[in-house]
Amino acid sequence: MSDHISLVHGDITQQEVDVIVNAANNHLHRGGGVDAAIHKAGGPDILEECKAWVRQHGELPTGKVMMSTSGDLPVKKVIHTAGPIWYGGKSGEELLLTNCYVNSLKLAAEQGFTSIAFPSISTGVFGYPKDKAAKAAIAAVTHFLEQDTTIEKVVFVCFDEENYNIYKQLLPL
Ligand code: ADP
Repeated sequence: MSDHISLVHGDITQQEVDVIVNAANNHLHRGGGVDAAIHKAGGPDILEECKAWVRQHGELPTGKVMMSTSGDLPVKKVIHTAGPIWYGGKSGEELLLTNCYVNSLKLAAEQGFTSIAFPSISTGVFGYPKDKAAKAAIAAVTHFLEQDTTIEKVVFVCFDEENYNIYKQLLPL
């Protein structure tokens, strides 16, 4: 495994990094899974900023990112990204998922943050096959880190056992 990449089986709201990424939706509102967990643990200020952002900019396009306060979470910022819904793989899902990771990393690096944690974007209600999503996520992060000097630590946080085992296979220690 790259010196910069680590794997955790756990809850992203407990991670002590500069930035955590939220697998949100285009409305930045009323998500389930990791989105609900982040808003629950982070408190109402995060949702207020998300709503204000959507009022100003409209919906967040799939693959794009926005940054909000971290509220009560033990991190500096939350980056919200809208992952693709899986429609069978021929609707540009892989590129859109890659964009979620790369755009999050770019925004974090631009802001001078050095550590970031990702959930397994799109692998819950959005139905992206977990093995394919993990491969795309690892490829995107690895490629980004080859060219970047700001980000020192990327944590893949797998909440469910299945994702954790897939990442463990793909990221041999
Ligand atoms: P999506 O709509 O992008 O599929 P979900 O939140 O439904 O988003 O699922 C994305 C992934 O987040 C799933 O693999 C799920 O197991 C995981 N997840 C759910 N809760 C948490 C959490 N608290 N921390 C990290 N990952 C989580």
